[in-house]
Amino acid sequence: MEPTIDRRVAIVTGASRGIGRAIALRLARDGRHVVGFARDQGQLESLATAIAAMGGSCETTVQDVGDGATFGAAIESVAERHGRLDIIVNNAGITRDGLILRMSDEDFDDVIRVNLRSAFVACRAAARSMMRGRFGRIINISSVSGITGNAGQTNYSAAKAGLIGLTKSIAKELGGKGITANVIAPGFIDSDMTKALPASLKDAVLPAIALRRFGAVEDIAAAASYLSSDDAGYVTGHVLQVDGGLGM
Ligand code: NAP
Repeated sequence: MEPTIDRRVAIVTGASRGIGRAIALRLARDGRHVVGFARDQGQLESLATAIAAMGGSCETTVQDVGDGATFGAAIESVAERHGRLDIIVNNAGITRDGLILRMSDEDFDDVIRVNLRSAFVACRAAARSMMRGRFGRIINISSVSGITGNAGQTNYSAAKAGLIGLTKSIAKELGGKGITANVIAPGFIDSDMTKALPASLKDAVLPAIALRRFGAVEDIAAAASYLSSDDAGYVTGHVLQVDGGLGM
């Protein structure tokens, strides 16, 4: 199928707020046609309005990424409608923290489904179109917790570590087709996710961050912009820690 638009098409999951919204805004600024996925329609509309206001190109889809069947179909539908799919940023994520002795099966499974399984579904659905175009940029948003582990986050750390193995395997499978796959591992970034943390925990973690501050969502967006660019064409299977030095 011939491309129906000449801009690169970029799907960003969890685009309604936080890091995902910042990535969507940044990729739109980079000239991409952004397709934002999330569950909150009102916040997606606000994203679309913001991108339109800066002269960018955007559409949004209300989608639970944990629902594998509809999520995969929604990605394929984007590729079919536009005749291309160039970039996918798997950013949607949740936490259900708790010590292992008290963690329910449901809290473990929910976090694996939304943070890890969704990325598998998305990469599989995106791969065919990327292979056809002989170009692709897959970016999976992991976490420093997936590298170092974190007490109270066995589910989240397992999912985020799993994303690293998933991404490196995809990088090896699809590299010959012009597709790169990389991970961004954020440290503590100011967003709704970290707003929920107790002040005492935030104070305790600051001394371990070399730059002595939390990051901004735009710091992660800048990394995603680079990894999705032509300049990053020889970077694949990489885990880019954007963490102010926390994970050293
Ligand atoms: P956030 O502010 O809580 O935003 C989470 C985003 O994920 C929202 O857009 C939410 O949209 C979406 N989402 C959650 N469940 C979803 C589902 N089932 N289907 C579709 N969308 C879903 O979190 P954030 O801080 O921006 O985090 C973004 C990513 O960075 C996550 O993967 C997180 O694990 C990772 N990360 C964050 C930090 C940090 O310090 N903030 C550190 C390391 C890694 P809806 O609610 O509208 O669906």
